[in-house]
Amino acid sequence: MQRRLLILGSTGSIGESALDVAAALGPSCRVVGLGARRRWREMAEQIRRFAVHDAALSEDDAAESLRGASLNGTRIRGGSRALVELVEQTDADFVLSAIVGAAGLPATLAAVERGLTIGLANKESLVVAGSILMPLAERTGSKLLPVDSEHSAVFQALRSGRREEVRRVVLTASGGPFRSWERSRIEHATVAEALKHPTWQMGPKITIDSATMMNKALEVIEACWLFQLPPEQVEVVVHPESIVHSMVEFCDGSIIAQLGAPDMRTPIQYALTYPLRADACGERLNWSELRQLNFSAPDLERFPCLSLGYEAARRGGNAGAVLNASNEVAVEAFLEGRIRFGDIHRLAARSLQTQPLQRDPTLDELLACDARVRQEVRQWIC
Ligand code: NAD
Ligand code: MG
Repeated sequence: MQRRLLILGSTGSIGESALDVAAALGPSCRVVGLGARRRWREMAEQIRRFAVHDAALSEDDAAESLRGASLNGTRIRGGSRALVELVEQTDADFVLSAIVGAAGLPATLAAVERGLTIGLANKESLVVAGSILMPLAERTGSKLLPVDSEHSAVFQALRSGRREEVRRVVLTASGGPFRSWERSRIEHATVAEALKHPTWQMGPKITIDSATMMNKALEVIEACWLFQLPPEQVEVVVHPESIVHSMVEFCDGSIIAQLGAPDMRTPIQYALTYPLRADACGERLNWSELRQLNFSAPDLERFPCLSLGYEAARRGGNAGAVLNASNEVAVEAFLEGRIRFGDIHRLAARSLQTQPLQRDPTLDELLACDARVRQEVRQWIC
């Protein structure tokens, strides 16, 4: 099978891993489009290396600089609609959605509208608008293949039984850098401490989300949408080694897990080659070095964000959009040194408490809700 791959967020951590995978897959995977925000020098390199004909940067100035980089014959789009146009106009059959945050939603939606196959890393799209994306994918025939390592694990494990035989899904969490810290110390954690993830190398936003465990909260909501499960059937267990990527428990008590080295190239490759497999380009587990695998229940008092995720999943409607927007603004403010680490969960909780619940929001209502929450949280911060 030949894939014509378009990568949204190509200059990021997932985007670069995806390009590694594409290079390893060789002629069976051709990179036909690249989209990102502003790192035009990195993108110019990528365009040259993979001889890409279509590219987009959402920041106009950066797109202008990229045009000046003498890339023969590559069409370069710039501006806020550039990535949507890239999806609409490029002859791709697989879109890797790997922009960070709700900023990834419009281009992901465009790919779903076209009925393309999507490798979904951008979990925030589903958290904000799962109620729009999932039925739309159903209508257009678009396949949403998980790239998030936990969801890829669940997706693989689900192949060993029938849907109605699933008792629950168990998502593993590394616990992040503050797994064994006391609550008072977590409260005042510095940016440098929060950016030091023990097992994964990722972009800054998801690294902070892992430290607060908001990442797992978002992943619970993501799992509910992807696998059509109520939140009661999605459990979280802390597993510091990040070797067991997640599990599915079936009605007979059998638990099927997917294991592997903590390397995002593996789930990215699985999405690209699905339903087949190809030789690994990611790291392999070395069993002789593996000493033990630990599991424990998450501590909701020290990591209150996880409870917020369950609350948003139970409430449904616009609650995911509220939680996500508040968290995005809070994480940005934390990274800029404007709030304390402990403020992130307080801001998210306050947003969930104050925003009115909308039951069946339209896309426009969700986008308006996202904008409203961002503005409100910014006001709370200054
Ligand atoms: P990153 O910060 O390394 O990269 C983000 C990418 O998005 C960059 O290419 C950037 O240019 C692009 N981008 C950001 N804002 C944009 C905008 N407004 N318009 C266009 N492009 C924009 O992030 P990452 O770690 O690669 O994560 C990307 C997504 O994948 C996130 O949703 C994250 O939760 C998810 N994810 C990441 C990992 C990981 O290991 N990094 C694992 C699982 C899921
Ligand atoms: Mg994950």
